[in-house]
Amino acid sequence: MADVDIVISGGGAIGTAMALVCERLRYRWLLLDQPVKQHSIGRLGFDLRTLALSPQSIAWLDGLHDNENFPRQRVDRMHIWEQLGTSSIDFLREEVGSDSLAWIAEHSKVVTTLQKQCETHVGSIEAEAIKKIDSAQRYLTLTNDKTVSCKLLLIAEGANSATRRLAGTRWVSQNLGQRAIVTVIETEHTHNNTAWQRFGSGILAFLPLTSPRTYAVVWSVSNRMFEELKSFDDNQFKERMTLASDRICGAVIDVDQRLSFPLNHGLAHTFLPKPWIFILGDAAHTIHPLAGQGMNLGIEDVRGLESVLRACTNTQTISPSQLHTLAQRRRAKAIIMQQLMSLFDSTWRWKNPLSHWFRNFGVRIFSRAPAIKRQIIREAMGFGPMTKVN
Ligand SMILES: Cc1cc2nc3c(=O)[nH]c(=O)nc-3n(C[C@H](O)[C@H](O)[C@H](O)COP(=O)(O)OP(=O)(O)OC[C@H]3O[C@@H](n4cnc5c(N)ncnc54)[C@H](O)[C@@H]3O)c2cc1C
Repeated sequence: MADVDIVISGGGAIGTAMALVCERLRYRWLLLDQPVKQHSIGRLGFDLRTLALSPQSIAWLDGLHDNENFPRQRVDRMHIWEQLGTSSIDFLREEVGSDSLAWIAEHSKVVTTLQKQCETHVGSIEAEAIKKIDSAQRYLTLTNDKTVSCKLLLIAEGANSATRRLAGTRWVSQNLGQRAIVTVIETEHTHNNTAWQRFGSGILAFLPLTSPRTYAVVWSVSNRMFEELKSFDDNQFKERMTLASDRICGAVIDVDQRLSFPLNHGLAHTFLPKPWIFILGDAAHTIHPLAGQGMNLGIEDVRGLESVLRACTNTQTISPSQLHTLAQRRRAKAIIMQQLMSLFDSTWRWKNPLSHWFRNFGVRIFSRAPAIKRQIIREAMGFGPMTKVN
């Protein structure tokens, strides 16, 4: 039987970041990953899956590895507007006195950079999964029948986590009746480090990539609209996106293949099903991508665990009470974020004229209230009080 301090199950960005934290704090760790091979690098040379990461998350991730940093594009301005609206909101990095509002990175490049670093360290990585948990003895049986004992099991297997189910944790999932279409496009005009988001037929986000006319697209649409869009060929899709974006970047002149994801708000009933088992990242919570906060939330989970593990002077005693407090705090934050996303998502759907007037009025007031605007954007950037992790 192998004996380690910490087993991390799931080698996505959150699991690998967690393994590097364990390495830094000198715990003996084992990372289990059953990777699902998904080739998502498109014809235009970019991963079709991208992430908007807060400056806080980027700085913390960069501190975790010695490899060359993964490529990323700085966002200096965000412009948000509405199809039927008379008002819009602009966020500028100068307004918040920061080097950037956010960074756009390709999902696979973030994960491989972290994985490469894990491979050079003393902990080990196995392409196995957990098939049985013995709670009394605190040991795990893997799919190859090996057993491993540990003081702490961290589940970071993403939304469909099987080990979360083995740990007996209920998963409450609210189907949002929408799908996110992701792709990469080239546009007529250069992006000048601007991210665009338009609320209209769905929520359409153009996120600037490292090439000046290239954007990552995240288009959240109703299931009905998805059925229509999925039958479009490239030319029809380009045309529809040019219209849906009000030609704000000129015409869409090229489009890569499309991937799509069903959108859910998922939440584990508890993040600490046993005093020695903690659930984090998408295995604990999933949220609507409209504000690009899913991975940022997962990184906050890892940073919270980092604080708890750092505070243990003796690796024998990973404090269950501190884990309990952290689990409650992280779950409360996930609920707040889900509710905020639901609020944004439902407000823009108000269709009757009075509600519509009210929303435009609200947006106008908001965009003229620099203190509130500044506070909200600082929160999204990872610098606000809600981001507090320990
Ligand atoms: C359309 C879309 C857009 C998004 N945009 C953003 C954004 O702009 N910004 C942002 O912050 N977030 C965004 N997100 C969310 C972000 O992608 C996720 O929060 C993040 O990828 C979760 O990482 P994770 O490591 O927790 O899970 P995952 O990436 O799902 O990784 C889980 C890992 O565990 C492995 N695994 C699964 N089961 C097992 C098992 N039984 N045993 C061992 N290993 C297992 C998997 O193979 C995988 O390697 C977006 C999500 C979507 C759907």
